[in-house]
Amino acid sequence: MSVSGVQSSSTDRGGQLKIYLANPRSFCAGVVRAIDVVRRAIQVYGRPVYVRHAIVHNQLVVDELTAAGAIFVEELSEVPAGSLVVFSAHGVSPAVRAEARQRGLLVLDATCPLVAKVHLEVARYARDGYHVILVGHREHVEVQGTFGEAPATISVVDSVEGVARLEVPDGPVAYVTQTTLSVDDTAEVVAALKQRWPGIREPAKADICYATQNRQDAVKRLAARCRVIVVVSSRASSNGNRLAEVAWARGCRSNLVEMADEIRDDSLDGDVGITAAASTPEELVQACVRRIQWLVPGTAVQELSGKSEEHFFPLPESLLAAARGLGLDVGSGNARAAARASGNQ
Ligand code: SF4
Repeated sequence: MSVSGVQSSSTDRGGQLKIYLANPRSFCAGVVRAIDVVRRAIQVYGRPVYVRHAIVHNQLVVDELTAAGAIFVEELSEVPAGSLVVFSAHGVSPAVRAEARQRGLLVLDATCPLVAKVHLEVARYARDGYHVILVGHREHVEVQGTFGEAPATISVVDSVEGVARLEVPDGPVAYVTQTTLSVDDTAEVVAALKQRWPGIREPAKADICYATQNRQDAVKRLAARCRVIVVVSSRASSNGNRLAEVAWARGCRSNLVEMADEIRDDSLDGDVGITAAASTPEELVQACVRRIQWLVPGTAVQELSGKSEEHFFPLPESLLAAARGLGLDVGSGNARAAARASGNQ
């Protein structure tokens, strides 16, 4: 059998390797909802539907939605006046919302509700006179959107050294975190913040999203069994890169791949774990399984047990109402979201 147009390599390791699949892996509820928003919008409003920024960080998803009638842009100035535009799962700043209003664009917001919650926290802190410290990566699109909630009273920091260098005005201080960093990722920075500002206000519940934490915990379980861990993820995905770092920190050789054909024969020198970022479709994981089994015939597959995820986020009410107005049976959009979020797609 040929995969990706190259000849099968014959090895003598058949039956010696095993593939372990992380659980959970792949799509989270926020990603499922964002993709559904675009699909439903095309169905309800017709093509094209403009989407600001990659709806989620995965090229396969973007390509499929493009083929269905989506046009991806980076700036609202690329969207013709009066058109429909979807904001991606990563969220946007109030300035972007204002620009959309000013240009008369019809907006559907696919911002993940967990990201939207952080935006609300920042706006509330700023209104109450706090200086807000956002723990995250300045260049990440989610952080840029959150920063825009209160640019005059917010600082971004991603390291303990950065905490020491922060210049913050006298007065109350609060912190929030980027959703796609794990509790482990932020622990040292948060400890440094608390040391410098013992009275710092912290979120009632960690901003870290359930999907980020669960996928990282699943990688730790993989790392107990595997020497090599393949992370299927866009290189632009924050949570995918963090998964690779977790595997590396546990002493595994981590291999971040966007497509199955990036997996090389010489990288398979022990049992292999596979996981995937929250924005990676399960079909890419299965392609990686087939690729390894082609490179090493006879390789068995075992899915590890893990935390079940029942989260779902309903579609925007305006979209559901428009769909019902056309007589489309969309329910609340929840059933499909729940099924996919738990990996039963
Ligand atoms: S990873 Fe978490 S914050 Fe990001 S879209 Fe998924 S559920 Fe939302």
